[in-house]
Amino acid sequence: MLPKLPDRNPFEPARIPLPREAVKEMVIPNVLDDDERIWVEHRDQVWTRPLCLNVSNGYWTELLRVRKSGVLHRHRHPNPVHGLVLKGRWHYLEHDWVAEEGSYVFEPPGETHTLTVPKGVDEMITFFHVTGCLYYIDPDGNPLGYDDVFTLIEDCRAYYTKVGLGADFVDQFIR
Ligand code: FE
Repeated sequence: MLPKLPDRNPFEPARIPLPREAVKEMVIPNVLDDDERIWVEHRDQVWTRPLCLNVSNGYWTELLRVRKSGVLHRHRHPNPVHGLVLKGRWHYLEHDWVAEEGSYVFEPPGETHTLTVPKGVDEMITFFHVTGCLYYIDPDGNPLGYDDVFTLIEDCRAYYTKVGLGADFVDQFIR
């Protein structure tokens, strides 16, 4: 939508300050090929590269990277998920579509799924925006545990300590 009122100086930058309560912006260059240690290895050949860990709105953005074929943990989302496949492809056992390279995926609240990387995919990388939590369940919906932005931050602290970046390294991604 264009502004309803005329703008006499359309090419001048805004002079108003950032609101006092606003959090700091974040720009991370070269997210796909920066320091390998930033990729937190969750399990064998499965990594997450945190981008924005938002503790006041309860969401996070990340790059999920998988370098093996197989099934990842079954889970339910009480809140929406957005995904963009940057490399490779994957599908859910519960759906008949395939998220190919370049695909955007919206997962509605209430969605339960089991992510699977098919044979023949050497590497899968997907950007995810996840709100709320991953609620791990058995096939009948019985709870097995959860992850949320806070457990992810603790995982990052432990991993970054182990690889020598230090527990505080994750703080730059927290808003
Ligand atoms: Fe999911």
